[in-house]
Amino acid sequence: MKSTRKALRDGDLYKDNYERLTCAACERGLKKENDPDEVFSVRICPDCGLRFKELR
Ligand SMILES: [Zn+2]
Repeated sequence: MKSTRKALRDGDLYKDNYERLTCAACERGLKKENDPDEVFSVRICPDCGLRFKELR
């Protein structure tokens, strides 16, 4: 799984005017999924289902 930081660099994601992570292909804000067993959150595009990990 690609990190949100790398995806922002690669252009897969961008931040909208409100600093929300947005899928560049679908122009949809990413949903957040927390896994208490992991050290990162998972961000998911509700349209294409792409998943990214976000370190916290
Ligand atoms: Zn998408």
